[in-house]
Amino acid sequence: MSLRSSSSRLLARAAPSKAAAAAAAPRAAAPSVAATARSINTSSSSSSSTWANVATKPSAQRLVSAVRTFSTSSSASADFESPFGVNSLSKYTEEEEMLREAVQRFAQDVVAPKVEAMDEAEKMDPEIIKGLFEQGLMGVETSADHGGAGCSFTAAIIVIEELAKVDPSVSVLCDVHNTLVNTVIRKYASKSLQDKYLPQLSEKTLGSFCLSEPASGSDAFAMKTSCKKSADGKSWTLNGSKMWITNSAEAEFFIVFAQSDPAKGYKGINAFAVEKSMGVEIAKKEKKLGIKASSTCTLNFDDITVPAENLIGEEGKGYKIAIEILNEGRVGIAAQMIGLAQGAVDKAVRYAADRKQFGKKITQFQGMQFQISQIMMEIEAARVLTYNAARLKEEGRSFTKEAAMAKLFASQVAQRASGSAIEWCGGVGFTRETGIEKYWRDSKIGAIYEGTSNIMLETIFKLVEREMDLK
Ligand SMILES: Cc1cc2nc3c(=O)[nH]c(=O)nc-3n(C[C@H](O)[C@H](O)[C@H](O)COP(=O)(O)OP(=O)(O)OC[C@H]3O[C@@H](n4cnc5c(N)ncnc54)[C@H](O)[C@@H]3O)c2cc1C
Repeated sequence: MSLRSSSSRLLARAAPSKAAAAAAAPRAAAPSVAATARSINTSSSSSSSTWANVATKPSAQRLVSAVRTFSTSSSASADFESPFGVNSLSKYTEEEEMLREAVQRFAQDVVAPKVEAMDEAEKMDPEIIKGLFEQGLMGVETSADHGGAGCSFTAAIIVIEELAKVDPSVSVLCDVHNTLVNTVIRKYASKSLQDKYLPQLSEKTLGSFCLSEPASGSDAFAMKTSCKKSADGKSWTLNGSKMWITNSAEAEFFIVFAQSDPAKGYKGINAFAVEKSMGVEIAKKEKKLGIKASSTCTLNFDDITVPAENLIGEEGKGYKIAIEILNEGRVGIAAQMIGLAQGAVDKAVRYAADRKQFGKKITQFQGMQFQISQIMMEIEAARVLTYNAARLKEEGRSFTKEAAMAKLFASQVAQRASGSAIEWCGGVGFTRETGIEKYWRDSKIGAIYEGTSNIMLETIFKLVEREMDLK
């Protein structure tokens, strides 16, 4: 099946806008997003009514349609093919561009109305998970043969970024499932494991990635969870606990790393495909600062039996799987962070463009303009780092350093951008009902999971040291 037909579920939702593009093409140039956003904002003057405009559905719909209009007006540049065979990082394939539009619509129409309630309840709405599966967003890179969309890694990055603009919790749910869980199975598991698990992971079963433990975080390979092969070699017994596991309250499938022989060090680590029904106990659920709707639990394995065929890859190669997969995952977290930054800034700038003080819109003060410009530049720089790392990965080139740089920088930018967004909205930005402060709370995790900022700096230096032959 072709890539295009394999992504039919995604593309079906994007199709109307392609038709609209054709219809709109001969008309005079459509207004830019900025101009349309300005016209949306000038329709209201008081701070409270501005917030109603930004936050309520009709306004969101107008914004989405403005984005669609913009994409139709830019079709010529989207079709551009460089005669030199190189393109800017803003050049997406037709599928990637259509996917972006489809995810924007899903995020605005389905996710946005639930964000505040999910954050307050600290719980993911099951309808959101169902919707992600129905939209084909949970098997972005998985082949059509296995029920996936068969799209590129960059497509997965686009999905994560677009979801994070609206809710970083939904974004990380989709990110972990796609870039960690699916990818481990796609890249390292046997054909029979792929045939068994990839279709359900594309269609209905949520997955978790279980590496960290209470005593081993940054030093992940010091794990204590043990795996012991049975005398007949037909099964493994797992014992121990994992901590901080994203998606685990809702997941039915787990990639679990365990140590077979501490004397072997990291070479004793194995990776397993584990079903919840094999005996995984979901224990304490963490109460967190941010990404509250994303579940984070402790998992216990108490003498659970896993069939030998559920070993992923070769025995003793679990550490290699974890290292390689986290490089990809870090690009996903970078995408989550740039989406988060953009989502916060978009809301705040629209508010500021309407709010008047001293008889003027506050965006007419140079002090505000310079701050906005600075943050917009930083988000763009983080986006370029992120999409460059994604394309390097797709080209099969080394991307470890670039992924670490992208994650580190994007998480720093996300914190600065969402912090500034609160300040640009004054007192209103500090309140919970606007949703701006949530972006700031959510941004903090970017410096912690899938390798802390210090670990990113360490990784970057190790590679610089190697490149410059400094040892
Ligand atoms: C919300 C959330 C979701 C998560 N999801 C998952 C998941 O799905 N799966 C999973 O396996 N894990 C997950 N994690 C775990 C996460 O990856 C770890 O928290 C992270 O790797 C840090 O480990 P730690 O918490 O043990 O901190 P530590 O490793 O104890 O680090 C504490 C501090 O020491 C610093 N430090 C440690 N070692 C060094 C060093 N060598 N040099 C300099 N500084 C150092 C760190 O940078 C940090 O500032 C999640 C965590 C959170 C909070």
